[in-house]
Amino acid sequence: MIFEQLNLGNMQNFSYLFADSLTHEGFIIDPAFDHVVIMEAVKRLKINLTRIILTHHHFDHINAANPIKSQTGAEIICHRETAPLLHGGASYDRLIDDNYSFTTGNSKIVCLHTPGHAPGSLCLIVSDKWLITGDTLFINDCGRADLAGSSPKALFESLQRLKALPDHLIVCPGHNYGPAPTRILGKEKQLNPTLLAKNIEEFCKLP
Ligand SMILES: [Zn+2]
Repeated sequence: MIFEQLNLGNMQNFSYLFADSLTHEGFIIDPAFDHVVIMEAVKRLKINLTRIILTHHHFDHINAANPIKSQTGAEIICHRETAPLLHGGASYDRLIDDNYSFTTGNSKIVCLHTPGHAPGSLCLIVSDKWLITGDTLFINDCGRADLAGSSPKALFESLQRLKALPDHLIVCPGHNYGPAPTRILGKEKQLNPTLLAKNIEEFCKLP
């Protein structure tokens, strides 16, 4: 698979481009801020972009979605609970539920509903190699649970679900907030305090 991590805007957002190496059919996750830079990458990598996936509704993850849709015709996909929160910041074409999956070339992509930071938060397992975590899990941290629509309890439970996934997955977060832009999930399980918390009480005491 073709993989590209783009660091965009003034909030250290990461957008992710994926495409099949042979067919060049591809998708973007969380198109942030700069549709010109994103479209340059799409053209440079010769990607035929068919899907735009939003990990959640926050403006910094969706604000380049509509311009990219209008330039590529790609469909915008988000979790059912994200739709009413978009408030026109992005349109949507397909609403999905937990475990929705699709294929790109020979690769399977599975979307997990991981609420907590936002009600419709998604994490995606791409080709059994990458784990795109949006604002649910960062390198060495997790997303905020004190925003409108957040739930610390739901976030803790979502993190337990991620913790049960295989160590070899490469965690690809929604922001460049950590000591590295990506890290394998096995390392997060060893080092990330938010994954080391044994229960919700311990989790809520973290700074
Ligand atoms: Zn967010």
